[in-house]
Amino acid sequence: MMAQYHALKAEAPDCLLFYRMGDFFELFFEDARIAAATLDIALTARGHHGGELVPMCGVPAHSAEAYLARLIKAGHRVAIADQVETPAEAKKRGGSKALVGRAIIRIVTAGTLTEEMLLEARAANWLVAIAEAGGELGLAAADISTGRFEVQPVTRPALPAELARLNPAETIVAEGMDGLVADAIPAGRFDSGQAEQRLKSRFGVATLDGFGAFTRAELAAAGGLLAYLDRAGRGAPVLLQPPVRRATADHMMIDAATRESLEMTQASGGGRKGSLLDAVDRTVTGAGARLLAMDIGAPLVERAEIEGRLDLVGWLAEDGGQRERLRAALRALPDIGRALGRLVAKRGGPRDLGQLRDGLDAARTLHEALTRLAEAPALLRHLLPALAGHGALVEELRRALVPAPPIDASQGGYIAEGYDAALDELRGVGGEGRRAIAALEARYRDTTGISALKIRHNNVLGYHVEVPARSADRLMTDPGFTHRQTLAGVVRFNAPELHEQASRVTSAGAHALAAEAAHLEELTALALARTAAIVATADALARLDVAAGLAERACEDGWCRPHFVDHACFEVAGGRHPVVERAVAATGERFVANDCGLSEDRRLWLVTGPNMGGKSTFLRQNALIAVLAQAGSFVPASSCTMGLVDRLFSRVGASDNLARGRSTFMVEMVETAAILAQATERSFVILDEVGRGTSTYDGLAIAWAVVEAVHDRNRCRCLFATHYHELTRLAERLDALALHHVRAREWKGDLVLLHELAPGPADRSYGLAVARLAGLPPAVLRRAGAVLAKLEEGKAKTGGIAAGLDELPLFAHLAAVEPDKADPLRAALDAIDVDALSPREALDALYRLKAAA
Ligand code: ADP
Repeated sequence: MMAQYHALKAEAPDCLLFYRMGDFFELFFEDARIAAATLDIALTARGHHGGELVPMCGVPAHSAEAYLARLIKAGHRVAIADQVETPAEAKKRGGSKALVGRAIIRIVTAGTLTEEMLLEARAANWLVAIAEAGGELGLAAADISTGRFEVQPVTRPALPAELARLNPAETIVAEGMDGLVADAIPAGRFDSGQAEQRLKSRFGVATLDGFGAFTRAELAAAGGLLAYLDRAGRGAPVLLQPPVRRATADHMMIDAATRESLEMTQASGGGRKGSLLDAVDRTVTGAGARLLAMDIGAPLVERAEIEGRLDLVGWLAEDGGQRERLRAALRALPDIGRALGRLVAKRGGPRDLGQLRDGLDAARTLHEALTRLAEAPALLRHLLPALAGHGALVEELRRALVPAPPIDASQGGYIAEGYDAALDELRGVGGEGRRAIAALEARYRDTTGISALKIRHNNVLGYHVEVPARSADRLMTDPGFTHRQTLAGVVRFNAPELHEQASRVTSAGAHALAAEAAHLEELTALALARTAAIVATADALARLDVAAGLAERACEDGWCRPHFVDHACFEVAGGRHPVVERAVAATGERFVANDCGLSEDRRLWLVTGPNMGGKSTFLRQNALIAVLAQAGSFVPASSCTMGLVDRLFSRVGASDNLARGRSTFMVEMVETAAILAQATERSFVILDEVGRGTSTYDGLAIAWAVVEAVHDRNRCRCLFATHYHELTRLAERLDALALHHVRAREWKGDLVLLHELAPGPADRSYGLAVARLAGLPPAVLRRAGAVLAKLEEGKAKTGGIAAGLDELPLFAHLAAVEPDKADPLRAALDAIDVDALSPREALDALYRLKAAA
């Protein structure tokens, strides 16, 4: 047995091996230690191996899914080694001592799940593969629970943003690329030549041209992904649509740090609650929720597509009755995409077919209702055809299946009466047999005079007669009964007539089960023949759900439709923060709506004001409005006019968040550097207290330089919040910079934060007032007041912190725009005509330059 175990383990060395023994899956050695610790189950030992006790633990096979779920969640992969023959077959093959044959039937990994219980209904489950070929990177992503398959080129700098968008359940990279992505696992077989072949045969096409022009790196990634799926499923089929080629430029680029800081799909404490996604999600189906998460995570950059979505949302927002009817219909829908995924992967059952029946039928009803409407928006008219066309399949499933088929096929009972006459007859025979057995029980009681006599059934003896031990003697001597078993209180017998009826029942039952199984197979094949059409229906339903949910959300809080223009402006009137607004309302306060007006010649707003005054909230709400608008949603404002945003950046100055290991100031600077390197004139940047993570002078200096760079070089739309008052002096020199502040008032010695934005710089910092608001002890406050007075006195005398700034801007400005011509090295460089050099001369020139440096 150990030899067999080790052979299996060698096939999947990177997985925990579930080794089937009877009703259990057992784990041995290190696997057992890991599983016992993760699952909190008992670690025992079994026999010896190499002189040592073999650690072991096990889980019951019938409840293995729950344990699998926990192991997968904890980041493990599990290989399932099941018995592939019965003990009887093993004996026939190899004699009485023969070991039952076992094989790995599946490798369960986080990215290759289809089971309802192992998946989150409202989140996609991406498996991502990354490969490199010809000096380029390619990324392939598949969700086999619904069949989505995307391929795209990607650059190293853009990779983290793309991964953050997808938030994969599992990431794999080609061998040798380890370390490219922190938690990716290297997997072999990423060859681009083989990959092309693999893709062609997978989708039955002679050329891939129809799917898009793929780079070699993309092909390698897609092929590696298919190979990995093959390995995990041991060649079992999976639901996979032909690959859709995406370009990074298809959507607004949002890097991981920005997603995190804006809490787009996850709140900072982890989890969905408190995130933007959670605040806008009013979808009523799992598929709708998954699509909305994708939409929010990848806002569009193509105006026509956005307007298409907005038209549908607007139409549904206006017609409340229509919206409610649509949502009611959607709410009742089963998750047909995932049911199909299970059926394709041969992990489906009768209930999945029942879900297809109900879901496709509901789609047809919706189709009828929506087709009748005049003046439907274009997107709806485009979606409609996908909702219909399954009539024959639905009809067949409706005739064939009982109303609520079971998950598991093994007990039968899912094929409806009247579908198959032969099956009905077998069931009739079985039923008669059971009635005859019931009649026998009454007769045996009569003839033996034992009123406690019962006919029972179990898996070992089948049907048998059972009497209390005290009455057993009478049957022992009766030639009509054969003794089978004596237990503590009861004795069991067989009887010829009972045996005969029992055989009828059993054989009819077995035949009926086989007949049902055959129907299940046919029906599944019938459904799978329509795979692509069913996926299209599921997608269309999800799109309707997203639109109706967004319309619902817009109506709840009076959101408006964003209006897009060609120039890079961002004008929001009465803007609100969807998450903070709710939180503020919950405390009984009123959220103060604020305007934002970035235009081409006033594209950088410097926002000052006291802590807790609402600066961050203002910055973020505008970034979120941009995300929502381009995702095709209405926005929390009374009006919004904007030019499309190509990239969105959000950075928050380092606070005391040390969880990430690197010095937070370092993180802040690295992230700020990324913005300065990547933001374009069409980008939108929010910078919140950048420079806060270091000493006052350093911080001010850095903030100063960053504002200048954003203003002069990136020339993007930008909101910059700061508590450095000195920065407001930049307004004198940077012509596209406008000053704003959040208003506050001291009233009878108390600070009142108005959360209201007003033009101009803040008059003072209110630091001590905020400290009082926060409950700093009066003695400390008095002392701080005295220190402040001293400092300000000193500042007046020496010119204070801003003393040198008057000289600085002009100089910094020159440095930014004009390279230093006096630099001899630069002069030497400028003098070189690269095209005119021989390789030898080039080398000499390099040496000269090195020496001069
Ligand atoms: P700052 O960045 O200026 O320190 P925040 O934006 O973090 O301030 O806001 C602090 C708190 O003030 C928020 O948690 C919220 O409770 C409240 N707040 C912010 N903006 C508003 C607003 N527009 N209306 C009402 N309350 C607000």
